[in-house]
Amino acid sequence: MSIFIPDCLRAPWPEDYPPAGELLKAAEDVRGRAYAPYSQFCVGAAVLAEGAPEFFTGCNVENGSFSLSMCAERNAAGAMVAAGFKKPLAVAVAGESGMPCMPCGACRQFLAEFNPSLLVVLREGAEAAVISLAKLFPAPFLFFPEEGQ
Ligand SMILES: [Zn+2]
Repeated sequence: MSIFIPDCLRAPWPEDYPPAGELLKAAEDVRGRAYAPYSQFCVGAAVLAEGAPEFFTGCNVENGSFSLSMCAERNAAGAMVAAGFKKPLAVAVAGESGMPCMPCGACRQFLAEFNPSLLVVLREGAEAAVISLAKLFPAPFLFFPEEGQ
């Protein structure tokens, strides 16, 4: 299966992280709980956070007032914060089976708040592709830019 993820976005996966495929599997598992009655576009996300013993997951939750809909990545990051962790190291995003599901622009900004150099794991056929948020979204708005470096 040929799927386009630009090579310029790719990044290495650190050897001391849990396997990227495990993080992606957690995102794919929670995708089944998505609430997407309007778009039927179900998304799951899983966050690997520094110092956390487990992944934090979230799914997209739509609303009849469409603009209130919330993405899976932001729900997963919110679960991380609620559990007392502040630094995501990687987020896996799972959309349609076998296809990469890029974080939307709002999620890129939202995630950069916590770690501008976060890694993003996407499904690419049978593989887990790893890309860099810093390459995907190189100039986020940071209220305290010195803390984001
Ligand atoms: Zn989003």
